[in-house]
Amino acid sequence: MFDFPLGKRYNPLTQHLRQKFGHRLQKVSVDAGFTCPNRDGSVAIGGCTYCNNSAFNPSYCSPQKGISQQIAEGIEFHERRYRRAGGFLVYFQPYSNTYASIDKLQALYSEALSAEGVVGISVSTRPDCFNDEIAQILADIGKSKIVLLELGIESVRNSTLQRINRGHSFEITIEAFEIAKKHQLFTTGHYILGLPGETREQMLDDTKVLNTIPMNAIKLHQLQIVRDTAMECDFRNLPADYQLFELAEYIDFVVSFTEHLRPDLLIDRLAGEVPPAFLVAPDWGLIRYDSVLRRIEKRFEELDTYQGKYLMGN
Ligand code: SF4
Repeated sequence: MFDFPLGKRYNPLTQHLRQKFGHRLQKVSVDAGFTCPNRDGSVAIGGCTYCNNSAFNPSYCSPQKGISQQIAEGIEFHERRYRRAGGFLVYFQPYSNTYASIDKLQALYSEALSAEGVVGISVSTRPDCFNDEIAQILADIGKSKIVLLELGIESVRNSTLQRINRGHSFEITIEAFEIAKKHQLFTTGHYILGLPGETREQMLDDTKVLNTIPMNAIKLHQLQIVRDTAMECDFRNLPADYQLFELAEYIDFVVSFTEHLRPDLLIDRLAGEVPPAFLVAPDWGLIRYDSVLRRIEKRFEELDTYQGKYLMGN
């Protein structure tokens, strides 16, 4: 078995970062007022069919406040509620956080990094909003601060990407990861389990492709139908096209999926979490991510299995 951190049967990103930087890092989300080419008409209008950015924007995030105020409020929020962190990463999360001029990006990232307690940034974006110039800015910041880059993969199948109106091909995704690799950026890919038209068998098979992407970490999300999205309409019109995961089924599936992932791939998340007010389906009750994760970890134990099992000849 691969040398996973003590007590784990997969390769968690949190432990990796703690080991590398010597303490726990806490992300603080900001809405820097970006939009997205898949919404403003440059690529498409309406966005990816599953997307409603309000569903994952914490209450203190609002572009009207400016990012310094959001960071201050976010740090205060986390310090009140959670264990003390060794440093904060400003998380540029909603929309496409590299979709602006180079000058604007530099100004926003610098403002974030000048806030007290901030040790780095985590930037989430679309593969088609990423290029050499942006990679160079991030690489320069990375010489003295922590920089994490998140790129949306969502699916490795162009037919699925089209169906969800993603507005770019899988080939563009690969190009973005290659650029990031050239600049030695730390990358995490987002991937959704259960998109319409993809069977469980196909998803497991697609791990072969995922394993070839030059990324450091992966974030897995079960498909959730979010209120006020194009997907909500599609789901109500064509429910048979959607094979949403029930909780127990997902736990088994994500364990199996992870058995097919290369063991050195760090795992950022094993499931997604949409606030109940935004969620149409599936209904997993009011269970939080921490509890889902504990159940997934318990299932790894029960099955006496681990990440990458099927790549290591059992
Ligand atoms: S998911 Fe991201 S890329 Fe897609 S429409 Fe929403 S903000 Fe844009």
